[in-house]
Amino acid sequence: MEKIIVSGCLYGYHCRYDGKDCYSEKIEQLKEKAILIPLCPEQMGGLSTPRYPSEIVGDKLINRKGIDVTEEYHRGAKATLGIALENGVKYALLKQKSPSCGKDRIYDGSFSGTVIEGSGVTAKLLQEHQIQVFTEDEIDQLFGLLK
Ligand code: SF4
Repeated sequence: MEKIIVSGCLYGYHCRYDGKDCYSEKIEQLKEKAILIPLCPEQMGGLSTPRYPSEIVGDKLINRKGIDVTEEYHRGAKATLGIALENGVKYALLKQKSPSCGKDRIYDGSFSGTVIEGSGVTAKLLQEHQIQVFTEDEIDQLFGLLK
């Protein structure tokens, strides 16, 4: 069975900035097809839960209080990559629009809910290491790749 990295919040962990989850029922079907590795890059980077939400501003990660949390985000991304490489992971299912997990679409840094093109730091790092990233809206594509 393939091993797949999954955003902890999609898996049901209460690891979102607001202490909630974003559980997706399709995770149950995915469990039958693959070995899932749920994790939260922001927690692994040392951020607490709950925490202030952050957005990407240029090459930095800034939280809603104006504090620079770039280091924590990159630490979490590297830790995620390390686990992926140790486990021979080829695929990741990550929560869209997150400054860590988002793929192709993220918030614009103004904390106004505006979405722009771009990826979160963890999604980007995984892709740079040939790990294919899917959002929760692309889970059917991921199913198509699993035996
Ligand atoms: Fe979910 Fe990823 Fe945000 Fe953690 S960093 S709460 S796993 S979207």
